[in-house]
Amino acid sequence: MAMAGWSGVDADVAVVGAGPAGAAAALFAARRGRHVVVLEKQAFPRDKPCGEGLMPSGRSPLRELGLEAIVSAQGAPPLNGVQFGLPHQPRVAVPFPEHRGDQAGLGIRRLDFDARLADALSRDPRIEFCQRTEVRNIRPDPGGSTVSTTSGDVRARFVAVADGLRSGLRHRLGWTVGPRPPHRYGIVAHWQVDAPVDPWVRITFGEGLEVYEGPVAGNQRMVGLLCYQARMREFGGRLAEHYRDIVLSLRPELSDAQLIGPVSAAGPFWYRASTVARHGIFLVGDAGGFSDPITGEGIAAGLRQARAFAMALDSPNPERTYRHAHRRLTRDPRRVASLLLRLTRTPALVERGLDSHERAPQTLTKLLGIGFGYWGFNRITPREWIRMFTGR
Ligand SMILES: Cc1cc2nc3c(=O)[nH]c(=O)nc-3n(C[C@H](O)[C@H](O)[C@H](O)COP(=O)(O)OP(=O)(O)OC[C@H]3O[C@@H](n4cnc5c(N)ncnc54)[C@H](O)[C@@H]3O)c2cc1C
Repeated sequence: MAMAGWSGVDADVAVVGAGPAGAAAALFAARRGRHVVVLEKQAFPRDKPCGEGLMPSGRSPLRELGLEAIVSAQGAPPLNGVQFGLPHQPRVAVPFPEHRGDQAGLGIRRLDFDARLADALSRDPRIEFCQRTEVRNIRPDPGGSTVSTTSGDVRARFVAVADGLRSGLRHRLGWTVGPRPPHRYGIVAHWQVDAPVDPWVRITFGEGLEVYEGPVAGNQRMVGLLCYQARMREFGGRLAEHYRDIVLSLRPELSDAQLIGPVSAAGPFWYRASTVARHGIFLVGDAGGFSDPITGEGIAAGLRQARAFAMALDSPNPERTYRHAHRRLTRDPRRVASLLLRLTRTPALVERGLDSHERAPQTLTKLLGIGFGYWGFNRITPREWIRMFTGR
């Protein structure tokens, strides 16, 4: 297809998917002088099941794109940290770590956040944004790739695949690894509360599941249930009612709140890719692998990978540069997700971890910082690890 406005090779970069990772990849690449075509199968605004917490590590790429102020002005409330707890017990408040001037995350409504990114795509003269255009296949050719879409073919020197968690194109390329058992799922919905905005994410651990809760724009709270497959079976045929019952049993404080909008489910999680870059094709965001929503890191990770992708294109070996950057950005956060999942599967460990917080209040903050990719595991001393696992 000769896309309107493009001739010959249609673009330097074709991006598949205009979620946060794809949109940011296109914007970063365009800012570095590339001509970009973005191919998105849906029409914006479109919603996406998500916990809707942008972790603080996602703010610097957003700021570099000139979008942080726009998102904040739209009413995204700050997130100061996470309150962890067991049902009906006092909570442990773990502030987010301060890093290079950023401390607070943002509660974002995906419908609005993704629409703002889409607006930025439409405004950039170097970007051609094609909505309702589904990509069916990518064929690497010498000097680029042919991207086959529902509206015809696009030729591009580089392709960023950012088509999300269950990436159909990663699967077609034969690069999918996963999902890794035990399978986990997320069920999310919005609740209208009367209380003033409370700038904390709350995670309440139940049996085989967690309730994740955080403020988004206005008086809305996003409330997600994250659970293992064994508990998912209970939902058969009555997703919304059972979701509501479980949320209220673990968070009775929400009984005055009103459940608004649809209840939607996503999963299973924990996909990886056997490679994230080869033959001019790059996987960005969830398409390149996603662990679990428990770290709240998906959007921030996608934004940071998008920046790394655009920078890698300027290097002599873009694929190798991106693979290294991707490994650096994802390895420790994935280990943190593994560790947190191990903890949540063992209620006694959750209790010990929370007990140890009083004596070593910095340890969990440091652990969040590893999950955000700020520093490595050596930030936590052997003494602190022992205390976390023994509670002593
Ligand atoms: C229950 C749950 C809770 C979560 N909580 C959080 C949280 O609190 N904080 C956080 O940061 N992250 C959270 N995440 C993760 C977060 O939602 C993802 O990491 C994030 O959306 C990934 O962005 P992306 O751009 O990679 O993919 P997506 O946002 O999924 O976007 C992919 C885009 O690609 C398009 N597309 C797909 N296939 C094609 C195709 N063939 N052709 C053209 N277009 C295509 C889709 O229409 C879509 O617009 C959560 C996820 C779940 C499921």
